Amino acid sequence: MVFKQLVTGVMLGLAMMPAQAALNVFACEPEWADLTRILVPDAEIRTATTAWQDPHYIEARPSLIAAMGRADIAVCTGASLESGWLPALISRASNRGVQPGKPGLFFAAEQVELHQPHDHVDRSMGDVHPEGDPHIHLDPDRLPDIVEALADRLTELAPDRENAIRLRQRQWHVGWKLNTARWREAATSLEGMPIVVQHSTFGYLLRWLGVEAAIDLEPKPGLPPSAAHLGKVLSDPALDEVKVVLIASYQNDRPAQWLSEKAGLPVEVLPGTVTEEPKTNSLAELISHIIERLQQYNDKAAPESADHG
Ligand SMILES: [Zn+2]
Repeated sequence: MVFKQLVTGVMLGLAMMPAQAALNVFACEPEWADLTRILVPDAEIRTATTAWQDPHYIEARPSLIAAMGRADIAVCTGASLESGWLPALISRASNRGVQPGKPGLFFAAEQVELHQPHDHVDRSMGDVHPEGDPHIHLDPDRLPDIVEALADRLTELAPDRENAIRLRQRQWHVGWKLNTARWREAATSLEGMPIVVQHSTFGYLLRWLGVEAAIDLEPKPGLPPSAAHLGKVLSDPALDEVKVVLIASYQNDRPAQWLSEKAGLPVEVLPGTVTEEPKTNSLAELISHIIERLQQYNDKAAPESADHG
């Protein structure tokens, strides 16, 4: 009932509003485009990367510079995820509203506590982000704080949309809590399941699920899997317990396929972020899909209560 009232409230609110110029948004990654669209469905959003691109490394192309120049707000991950390209984009676009410290530049990673912050970082550690692991977008517990902060920021930039944004945020939160409860239940069957990963792309979600990233194909964060490292992986006793090799769709699958052949393990390639395909076209769908796929490889998931379903 409450839900229905919220929806009606949003519609009435919108009907009474005068025509507004669309909010122009630059999203560094598809997950932030997804969340921004939930809060402001009529926003004009340009997304800089796709699930088939490595978000650490893209080119500051002229079309992206132009999009940044038009933006009212850039919504990005931060914590140095985009340090290889975003500063260049911002400086070349010279959009006065989208600058460090201005409300027009929103970093999701600044809204929550990160895993694995490092006081000291040097090249020998690989491509480590000093602020901590920036791949926060699949963390069921962190997203509500990020969405709330994003709603605050959008409201600051477009005060005339405040009521609609707040209502949509609350609606989203209700749905997210229901999803989180469902995921929590599914997670009990996945707890302790060891898998091989490549980079920490799915790290926050795996940790939340209790899935153990037992082995990383990267010798060090951000360094491509080397022959020497793969040799070590193959002789790692932990490999015996592993159920599946999980990599993201933007990653080169050759190391995973090599290990799969040598160790007789299945490889699962999943989008690391939201796509336009069914099953992964929102963050909630994507998380549900990842959990479902992981369950395929887990013996413990064989349900004793199959006849109930
Ligand atoms: Zn990374």
